[in-house]
Amino acid sequence: MMSGSYIPYGRQDVTADDIEAVSEVLRSDWLTQGPGVPRFEASVREYCGAAHAVAVNSATSALHLACLALDLKAGDWLWTSPITFVASANCARYCGARVDLVDIDPRTYNLSPRALAEKLVQARKSGCLPKIVVPVHLAGQSCDMEAIHALGEEFGFRIVEDASHAIGGQYQARPVGDCRFSDISVFSFHPVKIITTAEGGMLLTNRNDLAERAALLRTHGITRDAARMSSPPDGPWYYEQVDLGFNYRMTDVQAALGASQMKRLEAYIARRHHLAGRYDRLLANLPVTTPWQHPDCRSATHLYIVRLQLARLSRTHRQVFEKMRELEVGVNLHYLPVYRQPYYQRIGFDRAAYPEAERYYAEAMSLPLFPAMTEEQQDRVVSALLEALQ
Ligand SMILES: *Cc1c(COP(=O)(O)O)cnc(C)c1O
Repeated sequence: MMSGSYIPYGRQDVTADDIEAVSEVLRSDWLTQGPGVPRFEASVREYCGAAHAVAVNSATSALHLACLALDLKAGDWLWTSPITFVASANCARYCGARVDLVDIDPRTYNLSPRALAEKLVQARKSGCLPKIVVPVHLAGQSCDMEAIHALGEEFGFRIVEDASHAIGGQYQARPVGDCRFSDISVFSFHPVKIITTAEGGMLLTNRNDLAERAALLRTHGITRDAARMSSPPDGPWYYEQVDLGFNYRMTDVQAALGASQMKRLEAYIARRHHLAGRYDRLLANLPVTTPWQHPDCRSATHLYIVRLQLARLSRTHRQVFEKMRELEVGVNLHYLPVYRQPYYQRIGFDRAAYPEAERYYAEAMSLPLFPAMTEEQQDRVVSALLEALQ
Protein backbone atom coordinates (compact mmCIF):
# COMPACT_ATOMS: atom_id res chain seq x y z
CA MET A 1 0.00 0.00 0.00
CA MET A 2 1.11 3.49 -0.87
CA SER A 3 2.05 5.44 2.20
CA GLY A 4 1.27 9.11 2.44
CA SER A 5 0.01 11.84 4.65
CA TYR A 6 -3.26 12.16 6.45
CA ILE A 7 -6.35 12.35 4.21
CA PRO A 8 -8.95 14.67 5.75
CA TYR A 9 -12.69 14.04 5.33
CA GLY A 10 -13.11 17.39 3.62
CA ARG A 11 -10.91 20.21 2.43
CA GLN A 12 -11.29 23.53 0.66
CA ASP A 13 -9.98 24.10 -2.85
CA VAL A 14 -8.40 27.55 -3.28
CA THR A 15 -7.02 28.46 -6.70
CA ALA A 16 -4.75 31.21 -8.02
CA ASP A 17 -7.89 32.95 -9.35
CA ASP A 18 -9.40 32.95 -5.85
CA ILE A 19 -6.21 34.45 -4.42
CA GLU A 20 -6.17 37.11 -7.12
CA ALA A 21 -9.85 37.98 -6.44
CA VAL A 22 -9.12 38.34 -2.72
CA SER A 23 -5.94 40.36 -3.33
CA GLU A 24 -7.87 42.76 -5.52
CA VAL A 25 -10.21 43.54 -2.62
CA LEU A 26 -7.27 43.97 -0.25
CA ARG A 27 -5.83 46.59 -2.64
CA SER A 28 -9.21 48.36 -3.01
CA ASP A 29 -10.98 50.97 -0.87
CA TRP A 30 -13.51 48.54 0.60
CA LEU A 31 -12.62 45.67 2.90
CA THR A 32 -16.21 45.54 4.05
CA GLN A 33 -19.54 47.08 3.04
CA GLY A 34 -18.32 47.70 -0.50
CA PRO A 35 -19.61 46.22 -3.77
CA GLY A 36 -18.34 42.68 -3.12
CA VAL A 37 -21.10 41.42 -0.86
CA PRO A 38 -24.04 42.45 -3.11
CA ARG A 39 -22.16 40.94 -6.07
CA PHE A 40 -21.74 37.59 -4.29
CA GLU A 41 -25.37 37.70 -3.12
CA ALA A 42 -26.51 38.25 -6.71
CA SER A 43 -24.47 35.33 -8.02
CA VAL A 44 -25.93 32.87 -5.47
CA ARG A 45 -29.44 34.30 -5.80
CA GLU A 46 -29.36 33.99 -9.59
CA TYR A 47 -27.89 30.49 -9.48
CA CYS A 48 -30.63 29.34 -7.10
CA GLY A 49 -33.50 31.28 -8.62
CA ALA A 50 -34.58 32.89 -5.34
CA ALA A 51 -35.80 36.50 -5.09
CA HIS A 52 -33.48 37.65 -2.27
CA ALA A 53 -30.13 36.72 -0.73
CA VAL A 54 -28.58 38.07 2.48
CA ALA A 55 -24.93 37.17 3.06
CA VAL A 56 -23.74 36.88 6.66
CA ASN A 57 -20.69 35.80 8.64
CA SER A 58 -21.83 32.16 9.12
CA ALA A 59 -24.70 29.77 8.52
CA THR A 60 -25.23 29.83 12.28
CA SER A 61 -25.94 33.57 12.05
CA ALA A 62 -28.18 32.98 9.02
CA LEU A 63 -30.21 30.42 10.99
CA HIS A 64 -30.50 32.87 13.90
CA LEU A 65 -31.68 35.66 11.58
CA ALA A 66 -34.12 33.27 9.89
CA CYS A 67 -35.72 32.48 13.26
CA LEU A 68 -35.87 36.17 14.21
CA ALA A 69 -37.35 37.14 10.84
CA LEU A 70 -40.05 34.50 11.35
CA ASP A 71 -40.67 35.90 14.84
CA LEU A 72 -39.66 32.85 16.85
CA LYS A 73 -40.04 33.66 20.55
CA ALA A 74 -39.97 32.21 24.05
CA GLY A 75 -42.75 29.66 24.34
CA ASP A 76 -42.56 28.73 20.63
CA TRP A 77 -41.26 25.40 19.35
CA LEU A 78 -38.74 24.71 16.59
CA TRP A 79 -38.40 21.15 15.32
CA THR A 80 -35.43 19.76 13.43
CA SER A 81 -33.58 16.52 12.75
CA PRO A 82 -31.39 14.90 15.43
CA ILE A 83 -28.80 14.02 12.77
CA THR A 84 -27.39 17.47 12.16
CA PHE A 85 -24.82 19.95 13.34
CA VAL A 86 -25.97 21.56 16.61
CA ALA A 87 -26.48 24.97 14.95
CA SER A 88 -29.75 23.74 13.35
CA ALA A 89 -31.22 23.48 16.88
CA ASN A 90 -29.26 26.21 18.68
CA CYS A 91 -30.90 28.94 16.57
CA ALA A 92 -34.14 28.28 18.46
CA ARG A 93 -32.41 28.54 21.83
CA TYR A 94 -30.93 31.96 20.88
CA CYS A 95 -34.54 33.15 20.57
CA GLY A 96 -35.56 31.57 23.86
CA ALA A 97 -37.70 29.02 21.98
CA ARG A 98 -37.89 25.30 22.68
CA VAL A 99 -36.42 22.53 20.52
CA ASP A 100 -37.91 19.18 19.62
CA LEU A 101 -36.52 16.56 17.26
CA VAL A 102 -38.09 14.34 14.61
CA ASP A 103 -36.62 10.93 13.79
CA ILE A 104 -34.91 10.29 10.46
CA ASP A 105 -35.76 8.33 7.35
CA PRO A 106 -33.80 5.04 7.32
CA ARG A 107 -32.76 5.43 3.67
CA THR A 108 -31.85 9.11 3.28
CA TYR A 109 -31.02 9.86 6.97
CA ASN A 110 -32.98 13.10 6.52
CA LEU A 111 -35.88 14.18 8.71
CA SER A 112 -38.68 11.70 7.99
CA PRO A 113 -41.93 13.25 6.73
CA ARG A 114 -43.79 10.22 8.08
CA ALA A 115 -42.35 10.66 11.60
CA LEU A 116 -43.06 14.40 11.28
CA ALA A 117 -46.72 13.77 10.36
CA GLU A 118 -47.19 11.43 13.35
CA LYS A 119 -45.56 13.85 15.75
CA LEU A 120 -47.66 16.75 14.45
CA VAL A 121 -50.90 14.86 15.10
CA GLN A 122 -49.77 14.26 18.70
CA ALA A 123 -48.62 17.86 19.10
CA ARG A 124 -51.95 19.19 17.90
CA LYS A 125 -53.69 17.19 20.64
CA SER A 126 -51.37 18.56 23.32
CA GLY A 127 -51.39 22.10 21.89
CA CYS A 128 -47.66 22.39 21.22
CA LEU A 129 -47.34 22.56 17.44
CA PRO A 130 -44.05 23.96 16.11
CA LYS A 131 -43.78 27.47 14.72
CA ILE A 132 -40.77 26.52 12.58
CA VAL A 133 -39.52 23.22 11.16
CA VAL A 134 -35.88 23.07 10.01
CA PRO A 135 -35.30 20.25 7.52
CA VAL A 136 -31.57 19.56 7.09
CA HIS A 137 -30.32 18.35 3.70
CA LEU A 138 -27.82 15.86 5.10
CA ALA A 139 -24.77 15.21 2.92
CA GLY A 140 -26.25 17.52 0.27
CA GLN A 141 -29.35 15.47 -0.56
CA SER A 142 -32.57 17.45 -0.25
CA CYS A 143 -35.27 16.42 2.19
CA ASP A 144 -38.68 15.50 0.81
CA MET A 145 -39.66 19.17 0.65
CA GLU A 146 -42.97 18.70 -1.12
CA ALA A 147 -44.24 16.46 1.70
CA ILE A 148 -42.87 18.74 4.43
CA HIS A 149 -44.40 21.77 2.74
CA ALA A 150 -47.81 20.03 2.54
CA LEU A 151 -47.60 19.35 6.30
CA GLY A 152 -46.67 23.01 6.84
CA GLU A 153 -49.87 24.05 5.07
CA GLU A 154 -51.92 21.61 7.12
CA PHE A 155 -50.40 22.32 10.54
CA GLY A 156 -49.42 25.97 10.06
CA PHE A 157 -45.64 25.98 10.58
CA ARG A 158 -42.96 27.92 8.69
CA ILE A 159 -40.02 26.15 7.02
CA VAL A 160 -36.31 27.03 7.15
CA GLU A 161 -34.16 24.69 5.05
CA ASP A 162 -30.75 24.11 6.59
CA ALA A 163 -29.04 23.66 3.22
CA SER A 164 -25.54 24.07 4.69
CA HIS A 165 -24.44 20.94 2.80
CA ALA A 166 -26.48 21.46 -0.30
CA ILE A 167 -25.52 24.41 -2.50
CA GLY A 168 -25.35 23.01 -6.04
CA GLY A 169 -27.86 20.27 -5.26
CA GLN A 170 -31.26 19.95 -6.91
CA TYR A 171 -34.71 18.87 -5.84
CA GLN A 172 -37.28 17.95 -8.48
CA ALA A 173 -34.88 19.31 -11.12
CA ARG A 174 -34.70 22.78 -9.51
CA PRO A 175 -31.82 24.21 -7.46
CA VAL A 176 -31.86 23.77 -3.70
CA GLY A 177 -32.21 27.31 -2.34
CA ASP A 178 -35.03 28.39 -4.67
CA CYS A 179 -37.34 28.29 -1.60
CA ARG A 180 -40.19 26.85 -3.65
CA PHE A 181 -41.25 24.76 -0.64
CA SER A 182 -39.91 26.90 2.20
CA ASP A 183 -39.79 30.42 3.65
CA ILE A 184 -36.01 30.58 3.92
CA SER A 185 -32.99 28.49 2.88
CA VAL A 186 -29.56 28.75 4.51
CA PHE A 187 -26.12 27.92 3.09
CA SER A 188 -22.78 27.57 4.88
CA PHE A 189 -19.44 28.55 3.37
CA HIS A 190 -17.20 27.01 6.02
CA PRO A 191 -14.05 25.51 4.40
CA VAL A 192 -15.29 21.90 4.56
CA LYS A 193 -18.53 22.76 2.76
CA ILE A 194 -19.16 22.86 -1.01
CA ILE A 195 -17.78 26.38 -1.63
CA THR A 196 -16.05 28.55 0.94
CA THR A 197 -15.63 32.13 2.14
CA ALA A 198 -13.48 30.94 5.12
CA GLU A 199 -16.34 31.70 7.52
CA GLY A 200 -19.63 32.69 5.96
CA GLY A 201 -23.24 31.91 5.28
CA MET A 202 -26.24 33.10 3.33
CA LEU A 203 -29.98 33.23 3.72
CA LEU A 204 -32.25 33.05 0.66
CA THR A 205 -35.95 33.82 0.50
CA ASN A 206 -38.71 34.80 -1.90
CA ARG A 207 -40.44 36.98 0.71
CA ASN A 208 -39.61 40.71 0.72
CA ASP A 209 -40.53 41.14 4.39
CA LEU A 210 -38.19 38.35 5.55
CA ALA A 211 -35.29 39.59 3.43
CA GLU A 212 -35.71 43.14 4.73
CA ARG A 213 -35.86 42.05 8.32
CA ALA A 214 -32.83 39.76 8.01
CA ALA A 215 -30.82 42.53 6.32
CA LEU A 216 -31.80 44.99 9.06
CA LEU A 217 -30.85 42.63 11.90
CA ARG A 218 -27.57 41.69 10.16
CA THR A 219 -26.34 45.21 10.84
CA HIS A 220 -27.45 46.22 14.36
CA GLY A 221 -31.08 46.93 13.43
CA ILE A 222 -29.85 50.19 11.92
CA THR A 223 -31.48 51.76 8.87
CA ARG A 224 -30.54 54.68 6.61
CA ASP A 225 -33.81 54.38 4.74
CA ALA A 226 -36.00 57.40 5.63
CA ALA A 227 -39.13 55.39 4.88
CA ARG A 228 -38.34 53.06 7.79
CA MET A 229 -37.44 55.76 10.34
CA SER A 230 -39.68 56.95 13.12
CA SER A 231 -38.98 60.63 12.39
CA PRO A 232 -37.63 62.67 9.46
CA PRO A 233 -33.78 62.69 9.26
CA ASP A 234 -32.08 65.50 11.18
CA GLY A 235 -29.50 65.73 8.40
CA PRO A 236 -27.33 63.71 6.03
CA TRP A 237 -25.49 62.03 8.94
CA TYR A 238 -28.70 60.60 10.33
CA TYR A 239 -29.53 56.94 10.82
CA GLU A 240 -31.81 55.16 13.21
CA GLN A 241 -31.61 51.97 15.17
CA VAL A 242 -35.16 50.67 14.85
CA ASP A 243 -34.65 47.19 16.28
CA LEU A 244 -32.05 45.22 18.26
CA GLY A 245 -29.76 43.58 15.71
CA PHE A 246 -26.21 42.23 15.51
CA ASN A 247 -23.03 42.60 13.54
CA TYR A 248 -23.45 39.50 11.39
CA ARG A 249 -21.97 41.07 8.25
CA MET A 250 -19.83 39.25 5.71
CA THR A 251 -16.73 41.16 4.58
CA ASP A 252 -15.91 42.04 0.97
CA VAL A 253 -12.76 39.94 1.31
CA GLN A 254 -14.88 36.88 2.07
CA ALA A 255 -17.45 37.73 -0.61
CA ALA A 256 -14.72 37.99 -3.27
CA LEU A 257 -13.54 34.50 -2.38
CA GLY A 258 -17.13 33.24 -2.48
CA ALA A 259 -17.91 34.83 -5.85
CA SER A 260 -14.73 33.38 -7.30
CA GLN A 261 -15.58 29.92 -5.91
CA MET A 262 -19.13 30.13 -7.33
CA LYS A 263 -17.62 29.96 -10.82
CA ARG A 264 -16.45 26.42 -10.06
CA LEU A 265 -19.58 25.22 -8.28
CA GLU A 266 -20.74 23.01 -11.17
CA ALA A 267 -17.26 21.58 -11.60
CA TYR A 268 -17.08 20.84 -7.87
CA ILE A 269 -20.40 19.00 -7.91
CA ALA A 270 -19.36 17.02 -11.01
CA ARG A 271 -16.07 16.04 -9.37
CA ARG A 272 -17.84 15.02 -6.15
CA HIS A 273 -20.27 12.90 -8.18
CA HIS A 274 -17.40 11.27 -10.04
CA LEU A 275 -15.65 10.35 -6.79
CA ALA A 276 -18.88 9.23 -5.09
CA GLY A 277 -19.71 7.00 -8.07
CA ARG A 278 -16.24 5.55 -7.86
CA TYR A 279 -16.70 4.83 -4.13
CA ASP A 280 -20.03 3.15 -4.93
CA ARG A 281 -18.27 0.76 -7.31
CA LEU A 282 -15.18 0.14 -5.19
CA LEU A 283 -17.21 -0.58 -2.05
CA ALA A 284 -19.93 -2.66 -3.71
CA ASN A 285 -18.73 -5.97 -2.27
CA LEU A 286 -17.77 -4.78 1.20
CA PRO A 287 -19.98 -5.17 4.30
CA VAL A 288 -21.02 -1.52 4.21
CA THR A 289 -24.18 0.22 2.98
CA THR A 290 -23.38 2.97 0.49
CA PRO A 291 -25.49 6.17 0.23
CA TRP A 292 -28.93 5.86 -1.34
CA GLN A 293 -29.98 8.51 -3.82
CA HIS A 294 -33.61 9.58 -3.93
CA PRO A 295 -34.76 9.84 -7.59
CA ASP A 296 -36.14 13.38 -6.91
CA CYS A 297 -32.69 14.65 -5.91
CA ARG A 298 -29.36 15.55 -7.33
CA SER A 299 -27.23 15.57 -4.19
CA ALA A 300 -24.48 18.14 -3.77
CA THR A 301 -22.58 15.15 -2.32
CA HIS A 302 -21.03 17.11 0.53
CA LEU A 303 -20.45 13.89 2.48
CA TYR A 304 -20.03 10.24 1.54
CA ILE A 305 -21.60 8.39 4.46
CA VAL A 306 -21.42 4.61 4.69
CA ARG A 307 -23.08 2.42 7.28
CA LEU A 308 -21.20 -0.56 8.65
CA GLN A 309 -23.08 -3.84 8.43
CA LEU A 310 -22.05 -4.80 11.94
CA ALA A 311 -23.69 -8.23 11.87
CA ARG A 312 -21.22 -9.17 9.12
CA LEU A 313 -18.17 -7.80 10.98
CA SER A 314 -16.01 -9.00 13.83
CA ARG A 315 -14.84 -5.44 14.56
CA THR A 316 -16.91 -2.84 16.36
CA HIS A 317 -17.87 0.54 14.89
CA ARG A 318 -15.35 2.20 17.17
CA GLN A 319 -12.57 -0.23 16.25
CA VAL A 320 -13.11 0.45 12.55
CA PHE A 321 -12.88 4.21 13.21
CA GLU A 322 -9.73 3.80 15.28
CA LYS A 323 -8.12 1.63 12.62
CA MET A 324 -8.97 4.12 9.86
CA ARG A 325 -7.50 7.00 11.86
CA GLU A 326 -4.41 4.89 12.58
CA LEU A 327 -4.08 4.38 8.82
CA GLU A 328 -4.24 8.19 8.45
CA VAL A 329 -7.68 8.33 6.93
CA GLY A 330 -9.76 11.14 8.40
CA VAL A 331 -13.08 9.39 8.79
CA ASN A 332 -15.72 11.23 10.77
CA LEU A 333 -19.20 10.81 12.17
CA HIS A 334 -21.84 13.28 11.02
CA TYR A 335 -23.28 13.60 13.62
CA LEU A 336 -23.57 12.75 17.28
CA PRO A 337 -27.40 13.01 17.56
CA VAL A 338 -28.40 16.40 18.96
CA TYR A 339 -30.35 14.79 21.83
CA ARG A 340 -27.11 13.10 23.03
CA GLN A 341 -25.32 16.42 23.50
CA PRO A 342 -25.03 17.24 27.22
CA TYR A 343 -26.64 20.64 26.67
CA TYR A 344 -29.73 19.00 25.16
CA GLN A 345 -29.68 16.07 27.59
CA ARG A 346 -30.26 18.61 30.35
CA ILE A 347 -33.46 19.58 28.55
CA GLY A 348 -34.37 15.91 28.74
CA PHE A 349 -34.72 13.92 25.52
CA ASP A 350 -35.56 10.23 25.44
CA ARG A 351 -33.27 8.27 23.11
CA ALA A 352 -35.90 5.60 22.69
CA ALA A 353 -37.99 8.12 20.73
CA TYR A 354 -35.36 8.09 17.95
CA PRO A 355 -34.76 4.46 16.95
CA GLU A 356 -33.61 5.30 13.41
CA ALA A 357 -31.22 8.02 14.57
CA GLU A 358 -29.82 5.63 17.20
CA ARG A 359 -29.26 2.91 14.60
CA TYR A 360 -27.63 5.44 12.30
CA TYR A 361 -25.33 6.67 15.06
CA ALA A 362 -24.24 3.08 15.79
CA GLU A 363 -23.21 2.43 12.17
CA ALA A 364 -22.40 5.62 10.25
CA MET A 365 -19.00 6.72 9.03
CA SER A 366 -18.13 9.56 6.61
CA LEU A 367 -15.31 8.74 4.22
CA PRO A 368 -13.07 11.51 2.83
CA LEU A 369 -14.55 13.34 -0.14
CA PHE A 370 -13.47 16.70 -1.55
CA PRO A 371 -12.95 18.04 -5.08
CA ALA A 372 -9.15 18.02 -4.99
CA MET A 373 -9.03 14.43 -3.76
CA THR A 374 -7.13 12.23 -6.19
CA GLU A 375 -8.14 8.73 -7.27
CA GLU A 376 -4.90 7.51 -5.65
CA GLN A 377 -6.00 9.01 -2.33
CA GLN A 378 -9.40 7.43 -2.79
CA ASP A 379 -7.82 4.05 -3.47
CA ARG A 380 -5.85 4.46 -0.26
CA VAL A 381 -9.10 5.10 1.64
CA VAL A 382 -10.63 1.95 0.14
CA SER A 383 -7.64 -0.26 1.00
CA ALA A 384 -7.58 1.17 4.50
CA LEU A 385 -11.27 0.33 4.84
CA LEU A 386 -10.66 -3.21 3.60
CA GLU A 387 -8.00 -3.60 6.26
CA ALA A 388 -10.08 -1.95 8.98
CA LEU A 389 -13.07 -4.21 8.32
CA GLN A 390 -11.02 -7.43 8.58
C1 LIG B 1 -21.75 23.63 8.97
C2 LIG B 1 -23.17 23.57 9.35
C3 LIG B 1 -23.84 24.60 10.00
C4 LIG B 1 -23.13 25.82 10.51
O1 LIG B 1 -22.41 26.45 9.55
P1 LIG B 1 -21.39 27.65 9.96
O2 LIG B 1 -21.25 28.39 8.67
O3 LIG B 1 -20.14 26.99 10.41
O4 LIG B 1 -22.04 28.45 11.02
C5 LIG B 1 -25.18 24.50 10.24
N1 LIG B 1 -25.86 23.38 9.90
C6 LIG B 1 -25.26 22.35 9.30
C7 LIG B 1 -26.07 21.16 8.91
C8 LIG B 1 -23.90 22.40 9.02
O5 LIG B 1 -23.28 21.34 8.47
